[in-house]
Amino acid sequence: MSTPRLRHKALEDVLNRSPKFSDPPAQRISDYYGAHVFGEDAMRMFLTEEAYYAVRQAITHGSRIERRLADQVASGMKEWAATKGATHYTHWFQPLTGLSAEKHDAFFEPIAGGRSIERFDGSMLVQQEPDASSFPNGGIRNTFEARGYTAWDPSSPAFLIGRTLCIPTIFISYTGEALDYKMPLLRAIRAIDDAATAVCQYFDKEVTKVVTTLGWEQEYFLIDKALFYARPDIMMSGRALFGHIPAKGQQLEDHYFGSIPDRVRAFMRDFETEALMLGIPVKTRHNEVAPNQFECAPVFEELNLAVDHNVLLMDIMEKTAQKHDFRVLLHEKPYAGVNGSGKHNNWSLATNTGRNLLKPAKTPKENLQFLTFFVNTIAAIHAHADVLRASIASAGNDHRLGANEAPPAIISVFIGEHLSNLLDGLEKNIKGAMSPDRKTELKLDIGRIPPVMLDNTDRNRTSPFAFTGNKFEFRAVGSSANCAGPMTVLNTIVAEQLIRFKKEVDALIEKGAKKDEAILRVLRDLIVRSKAIRFEGNGYGDEWVKEAEGRGLSNLKDTPRALDVWGRKETKKLFSDMGVLSPVELEARHEIELHSYMLKIQIESRVAGDLAQNHIIPTAIAYQNRLIENVRGLRDVLSGEKAKVASATQIKLIEEMSERITNIKVLVDEMIEARRQANVIEDARDRAIAYCDKVRPYLERIRYNSDKLELLVDDELWPLPKMRELLFTR
Ligand code: ADP
Ligand code: MG
Repeated sequence: MSTPRLRHKALEDVLNRSPKFSDPPAQRISDYYGAHVFGEDAMRMFLTEEAYYAVRQAITHGSRIERRLADQVASGMKEWAATKGATHYTHWFQPLTGLSAEKHDAFFEPIAGGRSIERFDGSMLVQQEPDASSFPNGGIRNTFEARGYTAWDPSSPAFLIGRTLCIPTIFISYTGEALDYKMPLLRAIRAIDDAATAVCQYFDKEVTKVVTTLGWEQEYFLIDKALFYARPDIMMSGRALFGHIPAKGQQLEDHYFGSIPDRVRAFMRDFETEALMLGIPVKTRHNEVAPNQFECAPVFEELNLAVDHNVLLMDIMEKTAQKHDFRVLLHEKPYAGVNGSGKHNNWSLATNTGRNLLKPAKTPKENLQFLTFFVNTIAAIHAHADVLRASIASAGNDHRLGANEAPPAIISVFIGEHLSNLLDGLEKNIKGAMSPDRKTELKLDIGRIPPVMLDNTDRNRTSPFAFTGNKFEFRAVGSSANCAGPMTVLNTIVAEQLIRFKKEVDALIEKGAKKDEAILRVLRDLIVRSKAIRFEGNGYGDEWVKEAEGRGLSNLKDTPRALDVWGRKETKKLFSDMGVLSPVELEARHEIELHSYMLKIQIESRVAGDLAQNHIIPTAIAYQNRLIENVRGLRDVLSGEKAKVASATQIKLIEEMSERITNIKVLVDEMIEARRQANVIEDARDRAIAYCDKVRPYLERIRYNSDKLELLVDDELWPLPKMRELLFTR
C-alpha cells in the first residue's frame, strides 16, 4: 500500500526537522522598521514638497490628488522602489474572496533602438484594469456589463514585497459599485468620522476629525508541511474532516503561554521581521490554548491601515511558513475537540486632538463625552445585533460560534460591574427636570469612573462584544476573516446611532434644555432601550440561550440564515443612508457570501466522500481481509470448538468493521445524492440552505463511523496522519 507510507514518511520528515533561525537585518528593530514602506520618511525624501502635501491632504481629508501631482508621486515612488531593487509594480486589492490580489507589471518598457527605460507615471499609479472577470462580483458586473478597475488608495502607503512595489487600491466596477472590502470600509470610516466629529462638538470645538482604531489579534495553527500534504482534507478544505479525538487534547492547558518551540520561534521571528520591515507593528506572540495553536498581535493602528496590515500579515505568514516547512491554518476550526481560532477586533475612536473617546478620563466633562460614545455604541449593537452577526458569518466560523469555546452566536455586550452600576444608576436617577443638586451629584458619579479599568478579574471571556477598559473587543470575528467586513458594519451602525443621538439632543436643546441635561436625558433613554443587549453572565451556559430568547435577542446559528439580514429593507436603508453600500452592492455581497458558503461545504463534502471511498474503506477492507485470513488459519490448525473460541474476537471485529464500512458507503452515497439535489436549486439562498441542512450533517456522520474504524484498524495500515500526530508533532 502506498498511502500508509506517505503517512509514515511524513512523520519521519517531521522528526528530522530542525529550527531554521536566520539573523534579523539589524540589531535594533527601529533600524529596519518600515524600511519596505513608502511612508513618511521616504515620501519626504523622494517627493516634491507639493506632491508630499497633496498626499498628506489625501490621507487626512480624503481629498483628490490632481493628475500632475499624481505623476510626481508616481515618479518619487518609482525612484524609491528602485533604490530597493524593485523591478515590478502591482495594484494590490482585496476582492471578496477574502484574500489579497495582485497583478504584476514590469517598470521596464522597451523603446526604439533596442533600448529600454523604466516607466511609471500617474496614470499607472492611479488606475489599472486587472483582468478581473473571475473575481466574485455577485452579478454586478454582468448587470452593468462593465469591467472592474482598481484605483489608488493614498491613505494606505505603498510597500515592497520582494522586488515588487505594491500599491493599495480599491476595486470597483465601471459604474462605481464596490467589488471589494476596502471601498465600503473607507466609506464607513468617513461616515463615523462625520457623525462622531459632530457629536464631539458638544464637548470640544477643537475636534475636527475622528479616526477609528483597530488592534487585531490573529490566532492560527501550524502544521508541518509533510503532514499537511498527507491530509488531503486539510489541504483542500483547511480542516480535518476525519480523525479520532486523541487521548490528550488541551485539557491540561499546558500549551497556553508555555514556551514556544524552537522551530516555531524561528518561523515567528522570520515573519515578524518581514512584517516589521513593512511597518506592521507586531508586538506580542504567544502560544494559544490548543496544541500547535499560536497568536500574533500588533499595536493598534488607524483602521484602514490595520486592515491592510492584517491581510498582508496573513499572506506573509503563509509564505514564511513554507520556508520553515510549515503550513499555516487560518481556518476557524481545523480540529474538532480542541479550540478553534478567532481574530479579536479591538475597536475604538480617537480624535485629532489625541483623545481616545472610549477611555474614561479624569474630569466629569470628559467622562460625559466618554459615556456618550460608550452608550451610543451599546445602543447601536442593540439596534443592529443581527447585522453585526451577519458580518462574521462564514462556514468556518459556524463551527466556533456557540461551541463553548468562542462567543455564542447570540450578540451581547459585556461592560463589567463598575460601568453596569453606573448605567443602572443613571437609568434610575435621571427623570424629568433635574435640580441643580441632582445634576452636581450626577456629575460627581460620572466623574468617579476610574480612568484605568483594565482589571483582569472583570474580564468576561465568554462575551462576543466586551468593553475592556479603553476599547471594545469584538471577539466573534473568525480567524480567516477580512476585518474590513465586521469593521465596516460596526462603524456604520455606530455612525447611524450617533447621528440619531445628535438629532435627539439638538431637539431637546431647541426646546430649552441645557446641553448637559439634554445629553444625559437622551443617554438615559438609550440606556433603557438597549438594556436587553447587556449581559454580564456566562455566555457559554445553556441558561443564557434561554434567557436571551426571553429578551428577544436572536441566536442565528448558521451562515445562510444569518445572512438573511442583508436582504432586509431596513438593512438596505441603513447602509444606503450612511453612504456605505447601495442596495445593489448589498445584494451582490449577500449573493457572494451565500455562494462562497455553498462552495465551502461542497468542497468539504467532496473531499470527505473521496477520502472515505478511496482511503478509509479500502484500508478497512485490507485489515478485515487479514482478520479473515487469520480466522481461516486458526480453523486450519485448530479443531472444532477450539477454533471457534480462538477466532471469536476476530469475528466480532470483522462484523463491527463490516457494519462501519457499510454505514460509510451508504452515507457517502446519500450525501452525493443530497448534493445532486442541492446543485440544481436555482436560488442562491435555497441552495446554501440545502447544503447547510441536507449535505453538511453527513460530514459528521461519516466521520463518526470512520473514527470508529480508525480505532479498530492496525495503526500500520491507517493512511491519514492521526489527530495526535497533527496536534503534537512539530
Ligand atoms: P490585553 O488585552 O492583552 O490586556 P491590551 O489591552 O493592551 O492587551 O490590548 C489588546 C489589543 O487591543 C492590542 O492589539 C492593542 O493594540 C489593542 N488596543 C489597545 N488600545 C486600543 C485602542 N485604543 N484602539 C484599538 N485597539 C486597541
Ligand atoms: Mg483579546
